[in-house]
Amino acid sequence: MNSFDPNSVNVRCAHFIGGEYRDSSGRIDVSRPSDGQAYAELPLADADTVDEVVSNAHQAFVSSDWASRPPRERARVMRRWADLIEADAQILAPLEAVGSTRPVKDVVGWDIPYVAEGIRFFAELADKHGGQVAATQTDRLGMQIAEPYGVIGAIAPWNFPLSMGHWKVAPALAAGNAVVLKPSEMTPFSSLRFAELAVQAGLPAGMFNVVQGDGRTTGDAICRHPRIGKVTFTGSTATGASIMSTCALTGPKPVTLELGGKSPQIVFADVPDIERTAHTVALAITGNAGQVCVSGSRLIIQRSILEPFVAYLKRYFEALRPGPTWTAESTLPPIISRLQAQRIDGIVQRSVQAGAEVITGGQLFEGLGGAYYQPTLLAGVNSQNPAVLEEVFGPVLTIQCFDDEAEALALAAHDTYGLAAGVHTADLNRALRMVRGLEVGTVWVNRYGRSNDNIIPTGGYKRSGIGKDLGREAFEANLRFKSVLIDIAH
Ligand code: NAD
Repeated sequence: MNSFDPNSVNVRCAHFIGGEYRDSSGRIDVSRPSDGQAYAELPLADADTVDEVVSNAHQAFVSSDWASRPPRERARVMRRWADLIEADAQILAPLEAVGSTRPVKDVVGWDIPYVAEGIRFFAELADKHGGQVAATQTDRLGMQIAEPYGVIGAIAPWNFPLSMGHWKVAPALAAGNAVVLKPSEMTPFSSLRFAELAVQAGLPAGMFNVVQGDGRTTGDAICRHPRIGKVTFTGSTATGASIMSTCALTGPKPVTLELGGKSPQIVFADVPDIERTAHTVALAITGNAGQVCVSGSRLIIQRSILEPFVAYLKRYFEALRPGPTWTAESTLPPIISRLQAQRIDGIVQRSVQAGAEVITGGQLFEGLGGAYYQPTLLAGVNSQNPAVLEEVFGPVLTIQCFDDEAEALALAAHDTYGLAAGVHTADLNRALRMVRGLEVGTVWVNRYGRSNDNIIPTGGYKRSGIGKDLGREAFEANLRFKSVLIDIAH
């Protein structure tokens, strides 16, 4: 599917509670980023509704056999769920694309297969773990057994609604938990269908619930609820800090936090093919219009190849065609909201005032209905420039030059963020020295971005996060360990 009619997409303004849609009167206007049109009103769950949803999820956890059944049976249901998601692309993809920044062709070609494979990955881990037997004296048996928390509260951002949602929900369910997911109030609808398909696949009703609302009321009520055993969150660093503080004051309860970034892409002059590397760098900041946590938003480049490299980037940036998520021709999706586009522009303008030179871009596209931001290259910036310091979350790339490795590492270091970094070089020893020297949670060498090797966890250093998504780590983060000591009678 390359295109669709946005007016033909039916959204359900509802929560999904106990395996059923719960229609509710609208409270939040939801707009299509592609053309700025309001298209639905979203219910806002207050603390009483959140209490009802969490209690319902807890009841399902206690009374259904999801946690106690053989793990391979849990895995079978989850694999069926993944199959249904793939088979549902004709419905699920427009639902995802209409209200988000994800072009429908990418949702069909990437997001949906990625989500289905992620679910299968976590399903396969359901019976691939155990506890431990302790080295006690021989007339005792000491062990640790792994158990689910009960109800996991999952709070997701808007930039990849389904794929960020499944990072949270799939490992939690595979480990035997119930889940209450709050999608972003800006991209709320695909998660409902996502949950409905889980129930169709055989997940007991109430094990996966979707509750709609904003952060201040609904998200906050999830974090405060005493029956929530753990909160897993993806979003901005400021919100993550606030969630951690709420969870500390009302629990304490554990948190996993996947937060913001300001990731460098470091390019050495020895790369074998300048255009190929420049292409990778360009994709890593313009994909999803830069609205990616790991966007490579700072180019740090060896001075001798600056000119041809930047010439390629400029050509690439200027060739991108802004347009709605529902047309095949567009190659640059919208910014999620006009407010966010104005925020991006504010950082660019402050950057220019602080001395940046705009090589291309630097403003919003006009007359397109939705908010689209021109892919922007900023040169002449120092490490204190606002566009270097702040997470822009848009298609804006700053350029800084270095002469040697030590200078590259010094420029790459960021006081706040440590999410990811890219290193491009033909010299393996140099690449490994850079890997050691970078204080970030993920380093990509001669590539940029995750693969579908879900065994590799993802997560930030510094203020970019606590804990991991993906990998065995994400699965185990949904388990708690009970110590047992038994005296053996002789
Ligand atoms: P956000 O922090 O504004 O909102 C994220 C979610 O938190 C939303 O569902 C929102 O309703 C909720 N929320 C807001 N305030 C809350 C509160 N006080 N209590 C509970 N919930 C609350 O983030 P966003 O703008 O939706 O997403 C963009 C951010 O997400 C960027 O900073 C990006 O880097 C980050 N992100 C990180 C990763 C990662 O893996 N590290 C992945 C994707 C996005």
